[in-house]
Amino acid sequence: TIFVGASIGGLPIQYAQIQKAIGATERVFDLIDEEPEIIEEESSPQPIHGKLNFKNLKFAYPTRPELTVLKNISFEASEGETVAIVGPSGAGKSTIASLILRFYEPQEGQMLLDDIPASEFTLHDLRSQMAIVPQDILLFGGTIKENIAYGKPEATNEEILEAAKKANAHDFIMSFPEQYETIVGERGVQLSGGQRQRVAIARAVLKNPKILILDEATSSLDSESEKLVQEALDHLMKGRTSFVIAHRLSTIKNADQILVLENGEIIEKGTHADLLEKENGLYHKLIQLQMELN
Ligand code: ATP
Repeated sequence: TIFVGASIGGLPIQYAQIQKAIGATERVFDLIDEEPEIIEEESSPQPIHGKLNFKNLKFAYPTRPELTVLKNISFEASEGETVAIVGPSGAGKSTIASLILRFYEPQEGQMLLDDIPASEFTLHDLRSQMAIVPQDILLFGGTIKENIAYGKPEATNEEILEAAKKANAHDFIMSFPEQYETIVGERGVQLSGGQRQRVAIARAVLKNPKILILDEATSSLDSESEKLVQEALDHLMKGRTSFVIAHRLSTIKNADQILVLENGEIIEKGTHADLLEKENGLYHKLIQLQMELN
């Protein structure tokens, strides 16, 4: 799970979860980010390919400076690669995701995007190239259409429909009498976990980011729903650099690269086959445990 804290003018704001995240925080950061106009004009958004590196990154949360949450974090994700992040609870998986989104600044080291230091992008430009599909999305109390268009408010109806189709959400949306105008949330229709996930996927499809962060659900859906979600995710990940906080064995096995985190450090790195060879390694243990649970 990813929790995000931010502060405006010293006022702490806690976002319960990253959910609404990118859209909402983008707006918050837009407010914080009031840079002189002239700088904004100079920085035209640079389209990125999606290569992403961390170099010797060290990080502690500002609220707990004494606790080093990540140290010596280095990895390189090539354009279009899928990177699975695994490790015990509290190892720092979600923190890596928050740093990719630049919700926080590392104390040491840096992140590079296409070999350019992330600090050279405005937060807005950087986040316009990223999307997150959280474990359990909180939809806001509007229409399904508005919820899908959250990251791209100017989207046309056609684009929204297209995104919903790619996310395997179109059919269930059309089954409601009000279809895309159906109000969701407390005052409207309650969606199932799998349906909410597909709305989150549609939102990400519409945003069409180069970099994707997936926080894989720990609780399993029923198998039909699971299949639809998985299919939609596979589709979404194609051609994008994807970081998956992974729990499903199949996701981990299929990843181009697996980062095994323990106590804030990457202790093993490689493909499933590479890592399984280390019989005393943590990955080996985690996989055995996973298989016993299944
Ligand atoms: P899980 O699998 O349980 O979600 P995780 O591997 O994602 O765990 P993180 O959530 O990244 O682990 O947490 C790493 C460490 O950072 C933990 O010790 C946690 O208590 C601490 N931590 C996480 N978020 C914050 C925060 N917002 N402020 C302060 N400390 C935090």
